[in-house]
Parts: sequence; structure tokens; C-alpha cells
Amino acid sequence: MGSVLFDRIALIGIGLIGSSIARDIKDAGLARDVVISTRSPETLKRAEELELGTAYTISAAEAVRDADLVIISVPVGASGSVAEQIAPNLKPGAIVTDVGSTKASVIAQMAPHMPDSVHFIPGHPLAGTEKSGPDAGFSGLFRDRWCIFTPLADTDPDALARLKAFWEQLGSRIDEMDAEHHDKVLAIVSHLPHIIAYNIVGTADDLGTVTESEVIKYSASGFRDFTRLAASDPTMWRDVCLHNKDAILEMLARFSEDLAYLQRAIRWGEGDKLFELFTRTRAIRRSIVEAGQDVDAPDFGRHTLDAKK
Ligand code: NAP
Repeated sequence: MGSVLFDRIALIGIGLIGSSIARDIKDAGLARDVVISTRSPETLKRAEELELGTAYTISAAEAVRDADLVIISVPVGASGSVAEQIAPNLKPGAIVTDVGSTKASVIAQMAPHMPDSVHFIPGHPLAGTEKSGPDAGFSGLFRDRWCIFTPLADTDPDALARLKAFWEQLGSRIDEMDAEHHDKVLAIVSHLPHIIAYNIVGTADDLGTVTESEVIKYSASGFRDFTRLAASDPTMWRDVCLHNKDAILEMLARFSEDLAYLQRAIRWGEGDKLFELFTRTRAIRRSIVEAGQDVDAPDFGRHTLDAKK
């Protein structure tokens, strides 16, 4: 066993994110006991088959008894109801955190239920895939990825330091900001790209003039890269849209304005405008690679495709 950071950790929700955390805890020996809870018997059974924890229960309230760290990994729209269920059984001094993709809404839903005796510290690991469920998780998902905390004004610095140390053990880089700022940043770097992808794939699906088989056959021309994002979990993304409404609508408004500029440049044959924009955006891609947030050969699963050839 590695260095035990918490005696008992409760994981509420054991899908892609919860099960990836569970695998990392197990690999690094970060807890003596890991109690897993999820709402459906099927998912709970699968978590047990995968040996993701040391105890399993359908009841979130039971799972948090005596836990020193509670990590909630459910769709953001469900975080208030989970907080309400676990509140009476939380151990005084426990740290309660989440991984939700929106922060202001999660705080608004959860904070009113949190007893004064616990440390509620909202968090968001910027790591994931388009897959869901306990089988989709894997060890190392959070390595070299950012984990953003949005502490409340009265957050205890020692509790925050312990939670940061936990995520550092998972390989994450740590950052901190206020919840509103987080929601704005994520609206542009994550939420808008997903909405655009859902939209473009939907548009292609609706096209009467191009057959579905042609869309799929020639997808490598660009379409394929959008389909990965558009395959993301519908429940999670419905909740993200509903729970980061203001920031997303603001980004969509800017996006529509910029799209109109592009549309006009194409209509009037203003090649210099197009060239200037495409040069600017290419530099952004270079910066992302240089920052270690992608490799220079993005494959979106193509390596396995090529291996099959
Ligand atoms: P997931 O694979 O779909 O797993 C969701 C988990 O939440 C399952 O254990 C599921 O239980 C449970 N759940 C679903 N609806 C629920 C409800 N109404 N009440 C209580 N529990 C419910 O989802 P995920 O990808 O791990 O996402 C979990 C959280 O992480 C979300 O808040 C998401 O915003 C955030 N996040 C996701 C990513 C990503 O790329 N996927 C990245 C960063 C953060 P059952 O299976 O038993 O129904």
C-alpha cells in the first residue's frame, strides 16, 4: 500500500469519472476503505465485479458514514438531491467534494444541505472521454490534466490542502478560481465545442441531399472529429446546458456574431480575412501542443483504426 491519505473514502456515482478515481485510489493505495454507492443495482453490481472498492451500497446516505472524504460524481442536475440524502450521515470534519462540469449551480444546489461541521470544496477535473459507466473508466485519466477547485469564501485552507494533495496523487495539476469564472472559462473551452459538435452532427443527419451512407463514408474529411464529441453522454450534457445557461448563451451569442463575420467574408470573397483568421487559429493549436495538453498527432482513436488495416 502507498501513502494512505484518507482512512475511508466514499464514492457516490461510479461512472467514467468515479470509477477512474476508484482505480487510481486502488493503484496508489490512497485509502484503507473505499465505499462505493450508485443508484442502480446493475451499476453497483458491475462496480463490485470490477473490484473498484472495498464495500458497496445502493444507499448514498449509508456510504458516507464514517467517510473522511466523499466524492460525488453524478450528473450536475442530481447533485442537490445527493447532498440532501447524505447530509445527515456526514462525519464531522469530513471533506465533501464533487467533479461536476458546472460549479455555480452545483454550489447553489449542494451548499444549503451541507452541515457546518464538514468541509464542502467543489472541484472539477478537466479530463474525460465520450464514454460513460464503470467500464469506461481507467487508471491515469487525470494524469497531467487540470483539476480546478472553486472554494467557498470560508473554505478551511488545511482541508483544501489535503484535497489538493489527493488530486496531485492522481497526477493532476491544480488550479483555483471562483465558480462564476470557472463556468465562463468552461463555457468556451468545453461546453461550446460540444454544443457545436452536437449541432453539426445533427445538421448532417437532417440533410436530405446527402445520404447518410455518404456522410459516414466520407467522414474523415472533418466530420469524424466532431462525431467523437457528439457521442458524449446525453444526460451529462443536457445537465451541463441547463446548469451553465447564462455563460453558454453568452458564448453562443459571440460565436454567432463571429460566424456571421466568416459567412460575410466567404460571400464577398474576402480571402485575406479568412487567411488571417485561419493563421491565428493554427497558432492556438500549436500553443495547446506546447502546453502539453495534446500531442502533435491527435488521433481520436485513429491509431486503433490504422492498426486494423
Ligand atoms: P457516467 O459515466 O454517466 O456516470 C454517472 C454516475 O452517476 C453513475 O454512477 C450513475 O448511476 C449516477 N447517476 C446518474 N444519474 C443520477 C441521478 N439522477 N441521481 C443519482 N445518481 C445518478 O458520468 P460521468 O462521465 O462519470 O460524469 C459524472 C460527473 O462528472 C458529471 O457531473 C460530469 O459533469 C462530470 N465530468 C464528466 C467528464 C466527462 O468527460 N465525462 C469530465 C469531467 C467531469 P447509475 O449508473 O447507477 O444510474
